[in-house]
Amino acid sequence: MKEFKREIITDIGIDRVLDFLDEKRIKRAIDRVLSKESAARLKAFVQTCVHCGLCSETCHHYLSHDGDPTYAPAAKVKMTIGDILEKDGNVTKEDIKRYARIAFTECNLCRRCTMFCPFGIDIGYLISLVRRICGILGVAPQFIQDQVYSHMSCYNMLWLKQDEWLDTIQWIEDELRYEIKNARIPIGKKDSDILLLIHGLEAKYMTPLLMNMLKIMLVSGVDFTLPDIDGWDYTNKSIYMHDFETMTMVTKRHYEIATKLRVKRIVITE
Ligand code: SF4
Ligand code: SF4
Repeated sequence: MKEFKREIITDIGIDRVLDFLDEKRIKRAIDRVLSKESAARLKAFVQTCVHCGLCSETCHHYLSHDGDPTYAPAAKVKMTIGDILEKDGNVTKEDIKRYARIAFTECNLCRRCTMFCPFGIDIGYLISLVRRICGILGVAPQFIQDQVYSHMSCYNMLWLKQDEWLDTIQWIEDELRYEIKNARIPIGKKDSDILLLIHGLEAKYMTPLLMNMLKIMLVSGVDFTLPDIDGWDYTNKSIYMHDFETMTMVTKRHYEIATKLRVKRIVITE
């Protein structure tokens, strides 16, 4: 029989955080997600799976691990949500670490397997519940946590402060003046047709993209504005932790800016 060697992923955001957890807190988070937040489809999905394995070949994690059966979609559900249900939520810190590793690094919630399951079992949904539980407990890859905390602090994914945002737009405007006479980038302008929200990276590392975009909009005479306060980044990285609270906060901010500026619509970049 073929032997598989599992590569254990280590991450400070998962490993170190466990030190601050106790089993009561874990149980509370599990009860909250499984009893109050998840729909009846949780039970239906878990009970309907007949472990036929038809979905295995559709998962890139399974394929890229040479067909290791522990990477099959149904196996990942069994090792996480299945395990939690079996233990009635009384799980250990080490269990949480294992669930987090599977939910964050061995399934990216693409839902391809669901397309091939004869019962339409939504594996992505089931694994997302595991991310939600781990997220509430603060157990998630450090990179994701960092971006979520950045959204909480300044509504963008890269810790860009409001003065840095204004500064960036100012120097882009200066640069554009070499090509467009008296170029003026509208910012915080009321009653525009469009509120333009951009990707966080475009303001920090990929500014030439933003500059090109703004150049096209200025030359074509589009009536637009950028926000003049935090909330210009349309990304919402909290989705990866299924942190609905931060997701709501960020989306609400976009809505509030659009309302305050009385724009007709919001346009986002790629
Ligand atoms: S999720 Fe669907 S396809 Fe996959 S093992 Fe279960 S029943 Fe079969
Ligand atoms: S949803 Fe997860 S388990 Fe299913 S195919 Fe995508 S990565 Fe694999």
